Amino acid sequence: MRPQPVETLAASVNRPEGVAAILRRRARGAILTGASLLQRSSSGPFVRCLGGHYVFDDQRHDFERLIVRLRNLGEFITTGDLLDIMQGQAPLDGRYFHLSFDDGLASIWRNGVPILAEHEVPATLFINSAVVSSDAACIREPWERATNYGQSLSVMSWDQLRAAQSAGVEVGAHTRSHTRLSELSSDQERLQSEIAGCKRDIEDALGTPCRAFAWPYGTLRDIDGKAILAIRNAGYEAAFSLVRAPIEPGHTSTFVIPRHHFEPQWPWRHVKFFARGGMERPLDSNRYSLLMNKELICTDEGR
Ligand SMILES: [Zn+2]
Repeated sequence: MRPQPVETLAASVNRPEGVAAILRRRARGAILTGASLLQRSSSGPFVRCLGGHYVFDDQRHDFERLIVRLRNLGEFITTGDLLDIMQGQAPLDGRYFHLSFDDGLASIWRNGVPILAEHEVPATLFINSAVVSSDAACIREPWERATNYGQSLSVMSWDQLRAAQSAGVEVGAHTRSHTRLSELSSDQERLQSEIAGCKRDIEDALGTPCRAFAWPYGTLRDIDGKAILAIRNAGYEAAFSLVRAPIEPGHTSTFVIPRHHFEPQWPWRHVKFFARGGMERPLDSNRYSLLMNKELICTDEGR
């Protein structure tokens, strides 16, 4: 039996060094702390998505504490429940979180899934199917460049993904190779392979429907109308971004679902700030509404 790889936070995450980077980090931390102190708590209903990447071997305690604290702020729901609320098929009558992790890292399987199962928290893992299927250098090296972790990290195997499903975790798609889809607008074949192909890979390997997708990188500049159309046509029901915006049932697109990024090492007050909707800009004041218009235009053209 091969020994379990030990993946720690310090070895696994690139932390830019140098005076400018340190000052930027401190300034961001101070701004977030100040904003969190000024934030008013609201007891009103909300639905909010939270997205991370890893729970390294030295982060189990931090992650479990985070999950327990988040559960005091709201109830975790599945992707199906989220879509029911977003599409008006279920009322938004409580405080709800949807939890997901991108990139399919094995640290989530080792450290995250047992804690989620113990606390009965549903979650979705968005995986890069080509990297699960093969560790050939021609697949693995571009993925490592794209994801930019501090060391070569292990990803979940199909067997582990099957076992995670049995523990209550949903498996979604994150493209085959972690590609920035907005750069593939002129390459329809590649776009299809990354989007529809990833869905096919997952369904063939796991034998269960793959309903949800997460945009690699996830910011507004990584998302475009042609890719939204390809995601819809592939048969996905939802696509998650990393845009911090409010979810308004009946208005927010289910193909650019806002999601708040967090990781287990972040100070609780910062995670709490985002979990309470910090930095959410109204739809009409940023490019999010433009994207939704682009989605509508593409859908009309596609019919
Ligand atoms: Zn990713």
